[in-house]
Amino acid sequence: MPESVWGAILQSAMQRIYLDYNATTPVAPPVLEAMLPYFSGEYGNAASIHAPGQRARAAVETAREQVAALIGARAQEIVFTSGGTESDNHAILGAVAASGQQSPHVITTNIEHEAVLHACEELERRAVAVTFLDVSASGVVDPLSVERALRPQTVLITVMHANNEVGAIQPLDEIGRIAQAHKILFHTDAVQSAGKLFIDVNTLGVNLLTLSAHKFYGPKGVGALYIRTGAKLRQIFFGGHHQRGFRPGTENVAGVVGMGKAAELALIQLRSGTETVSALRDRLEAGVLARVPDCRVNGAGAARVGNTANFCFFGVAAEALVIALDLKGIAVSTGAACSSGALEPSHVLTAMGLSGDEARSSIRFSLGRQTTPDEIDAAIESVRAAVAQLRAVAPAARESKSCAIEIE
Ligand code: PLP
Repeated sequence: MPESVWGAILQSAMQRIYLDYNATTPVAPPVLEAMLPYFSGEYGNAASIHAPGQRARAAVETAREQVAALIGARAQEIVFTSGGTESDNHAILGAVAASGQQSPHVITTNIEHEAVLHACEELERRAVAVTFLDVSASGVVDPLSVERALRPQTVLITVMHANNEVGAIQPLDEIGRIAQAHKILFHTDAVQSAGKLFIDVNTLGVNLLTLSAHKFYGPKGVGALYIRTGAKLRQIFFGGHHQRGFRPGTENVAGVVGMGKAAELALIQLRSGTETVSALRDRLEAGVLARVPDCRVNGAGAARVGNTANFCFFGVAAEALVIALDLKGIAVSTGAACSSGALEPSHVLTAMGLSGDEARSSIRFSLGRQTTPDEIDAAIESVRAAVAQLRAVAPAARESKSCAIEIE
């Protein structure tokens, strides 16, 4: 089944070249196979006492072990959630609520995903002090700046593992040591590193870690929060006794099973060391830089996850380029987001020091397990042609106000 199903997925995508794996990945065939029984024959509620319920419970607990293994955690430290957004919110709001601190302070960075940034902004509305740290031109936060930002009231440090737009890997182990030395909870959003980098919660020194299944060939709408034993966290949902009452709600058994299988496969892939995606990413960057004038790779100076390339094509409106490439059958993303009818440049790229115009001229390519050298070569040629076409009509392209495309 696997290879032929991958083939069918690609066929059904009308021979499109999908280079947006940071937005989401297809469900891997063995993951789908593992999930299917839980939509039909095995429909028991994992909270039920009877046999079908207990089979569902066993499947959920196996998945908990599989997810824990991916990050070097213990099964009882994994709570299943509805995805990365919920896990981030739970970690941040829950840690501050449980801190008991009268005037709590939180440290984060300017390059976090909205799930973290907007949760921190919500904290500010609740009179919590938040420090948003700057990053280098390569998109990396300096651990010393974390240390300098500490206050006696600091209760949480939240810094992502790998950035979703440029792939920059943050120095979590150093930040973890600072957090440990000051006995401050340390959370990381590992949504974009899981399955791409080896993760060990002990090496990283994190107390809380966010995962999302659909970024590593699992289903959408299911994620996990790692909570180190002893970390104090207030629950944010109230309801039944599921997951020890800490995260109530009938478990999404099929989704959880899919996440567990996806985690198992990701670990096998990481251990086999057969990941060729970074060679393809390098081929893409070298090819584009050689064939397209006036462009550069954003964040090239940092250690990055191997699948992500973010280019600035000077003078080209990113959303027009995304649409032009889409018309050529290539799926990529821009970091621009629509706010009040205007196209806002990516907060990540502007935090790295790009001007608004440069950020609005930048697009992300993210490669995955199914990406082939032929696809990369075709993409390079399409980018060359699309950029040339758009530059020939540059004024019109720059005036584009389309707000349809946002980065995940
Ligand atoms: N964090 C990061 C870094 C992400 O890239 C994303 C999704 O794009 C999320 C959090 C949100 O995850 P989910 O889509 O599972 O809510």
